[in-house]
Amino acid sequence: MAGYKGHLRGGGVTGLILIIFLAPSLTIPRTPLNILILSVSILLGSLLPDIDHPQSILGRHVLFISKPLYRSCGHRSLTHSVFFVILLVLLLSLAKLKLFGFGLGVGMLSHIVLDLCWPGSSGVAILYPFYRRRIDLIPNNVHKKKKKYYKKR
Ligand SMILES: [Zn+2]
Repeated sequence: MAGYKGHLRGGGVTGLILIIFLAPSLTIPRTPLNILILSVSILLGSLLPDIDHPQSILGRHVLFISKPLYRSCGHRSLTHSVFFVILLVLLLSLAKLKLFGFGLGVGMLSHIVLDLCWPGSSGVAILYPFYRRRIDLIPNNVHKKKKKYYKKR
């Protein structure tokens, strides 16, 4: 697990890139309010997927959500799915929270990408519930080989 600090950093870097380089081409006016909304939503989104774990930074504050999610779907499944991200962004758009939803989606995607690349992770079910197999961009045996290599030195 990248940990919440790693996910916040990942979300922060993604947000900076988005605000500085991509926002003008996405026709998002760079007003102070929009930048604040984007920053908060991206940082929140970078933590949100781990709400499916009762010991995560968000999950421990909303045990009534994290415990049932963990028991029914497991960690890194439903809330780490691209379909869940799309659904959440669409629902927020319908609720006239388009910019907040966009930022939340960007933050969640940065979280999912970090989990996919994190060494030693058990993978992410990014297509849950339609495809439940966990995907890991860097297979675990690669990490084990690296560990052995470093132990020998
Ligand atoms: Zn995660």
